[in-house]
Amino acid sequence: MIKILDLQFLGASEAIAVFLLETDSGPVLIETGPYSTFPVLEAGLAQHGYTPADIKHVFITHIHFDHAGAAWAFAEHGATIYLHPFGERHMNNPEKLLNSARRIYQDQMDTLWGEMKPIPQEQLRVVAHGETIYLDGLTIRAWHTPGHAVHHLVWQIGDKVFTGDVAGVKIGAGIVVPPCPPPDINVEDWLQSIRLLSSLKPTELYLTHFGAVTGDIPTHLLDLERRLLDWANWIKPYVDDQTPAETIIPIFEHYVQNQLIEGGATPVDLAKYAAANPAHMSVAGLIRYWAKRQEQ
Ligand SMILES: [Zn+2]
Repeated sequence: MIKILDLQFLGASEAIAVFLLETDSGPVLIETGPYSTFPVLEAGLAQHGYTPADIKHVFITHIHFDHAGAAWAFAEHGATIYLHPFGERHMNNPEKLLNSARRIYQDQMDTLWGEMKPIPQEQLRVVAHGETIYLDGLTIRAWHTPGHAVHHLVWQIGDKVFTGDVAGVKIGAGIVVPPCPPPDINVEDWLQSIRLLSSLKPTELYLTHFGAVTGDIPTHLLDLERRLLDWANWIKPYVDDQTPAETIIPIFEHYVQNQLIEGGATPVDLAKYAAANPAHMSVAGLIRYWAKRQEQ
């Protein structure tokens, strides 16, 4: 039984989820959210009768703050953190991660993400592509899924897959969109990861932004693939013209907003999408993607 805890990120419901699984090894978390919402997560755990100290196993899909920013707080209580090998160094020493985030978020850093402390090496458990972790009452398999980030993986439990950001952001009955923050968006890798997801033939996807996708998963993944290509190709001419990001951002925001509204989004939904996946981040990420391609 999977419990979805809503972190009420920036006051928005359905923006960031954490997944709680009750196993013979005790309660297990997939994702932690940022440390800024840790009190909300603590309250969510308390509703199920747990404290952070009860959590001995935490599985993160990647090391972005909105997914793994509070992992260290569970490590302080003795938890093991399972992650992609490329995330290990940064979780052990988050200084570089924090510095680059400070450049982007500046004085918003605390409001958005909160603090991040190093996790001791011995509590970080890296997993190989296709590796299975066996705990009492839980068999969980990792698949490396680059594209959104090089340190991204998904967690598979039977026919359910916890997809982090690689299966996109979809809130309520809205459309699925690809979050494209810098620095390592790679469209080709992402498309390949979507194909890998399809090949697992899941019946349920659990999106960190936000919640369960059941029903027609092939269509969900196809829509994501189309939207990713659409966004990347939309930005390309601006990058070719060396249009500055500040100029592109409002035009892109408008473009995305129209897509969301056409997909049935209400003003409240738009605010949730903006909290989960701000359009300006995708502009920065996709500019960087094309710039890297041109250098090659
Ligand atoms: Zn991410």
